[in-house]
Amino acid sequence: MISSHRDRRPWQGETVGDARAPRVDYDAGCYLCPGNTRVSGERNPEYGGVFAFDNDHPCVGPDAPDPGALPTGPYQVRRADGLSRVVCYSPRHDRSLAELPHNEIVGLLEELQRQYQELSARPEVRHVLMFENKGEVVGVSNPHPHCQIYATNFVFRTIELEAEASAAFLATNGRVLFQDVIAAEEADGRRILGACGSALAFVPYFARYAYETFVAPRATHANMAELSPTELADLAAVLGGTLVRMDNLWRMPFPYVMAFHQAPVDGGAHRGFHFHIEIHTPLRKPGLLKYLAGPEIGGGNFLNDTAPEDKAAELRATPTTHYRSIVVIPSGAPALRSASDEGRDRDPPDRGPST
Ligand SMILES: [Zn+2]
Ligand SMILES: [Zn+2]
Repeated sequence: MISSHRDRRPWQGETVGDARAPRVDYDAGCYLCPGNTRVSGERNPEYGGVFAFDNDHPCVGPDAPDPGALPTGPYQVRRADGLSRVVCYSPRHDRSLAELPHNEIVGLLEELQRQYQELSARPEVRHVLMFENKGEVVGVSNPHPHCQIYATNFVFRTIELEAEASAAFLATNGRVLFQDVIAAEEADGRRILGACGSALAFVPYFARYAYETFVAPRATHANMAELSPTELADLAAVLGGTLVRMDNLWRMPFPYVMAFHQAPVDGGAHRGFHFHIEIHTPLRKPGLLKYLAGPEIGGGNFLNDTAPEDKAAELRATPTTHYRSIVVIPSGAPALRSASDEGRDRDPPDRGPST
């Protein structure tokens, strides 16, 4: 449900504090920084690039306890086999994914390809979910930029639904559902955020959150490991550019939940599944959360208070250079910026209701 006419209704509820990005490149108290000791007692190496390790508090893992007695009634239970990993983007405590140079984003995606190949080959693993939670409003306590991998012995529900829908659409229409989504978005054009060769980003017609964004290769691949080096570089460019725009929108680290949606590896064919990245953004405005309430929690459907076309236009109007990369003169004088950014760095237009 889209109800963008409600976006300007008065709000007397709680607002959340502005997130401030860390300003130190190393924090002695951070369990993810190079050389520091984690709660497990293990010491991080003096890593210089991407660093992946098994999660010290895994939700699934080889040491999962036996579930014990079968539950009474219709319930089912099984061991939480699999592996949970943490992937630090770089040794820099203060550099988010949006602020990484292109070659480092490519390096990260290459590491995720390797992780996918290794983890999906494990016999107990039926799905590999890669995700980043960013920002205190989505519950992140450690600001050191990192993502997580859950290689589970079950398929997450959203992936299961996408796989079912993709297979059904292919069987009925003979076409890949996500290809039709891309074609529709490009034909309309208003929700496209950007493209680079074989990859593109858009706020989908069916966006549930304000600024919800999909980043995807144009070609259909079941998982990210199937992407060629060129496709991976294009995807990195579009992903990086999208995250820069989000940070620039309110000149603050933009909180999100980002998930890489890949086909299950449970033995099914999963034809028609198209690998993509979804970025779910909990803020409607600076400091104002989209609360999940009656329609979402109570009814299971989303009520989006914003028009996806308006949100895409706001993001497109932001500069493509990250605001923190702009040199600020210590006296507090105006920042230096590239000529191409002149006049583009402004507050998002105040749009009235459009529907
Ligand atoms: Zn750190
Ligand atoms: Zn998806």
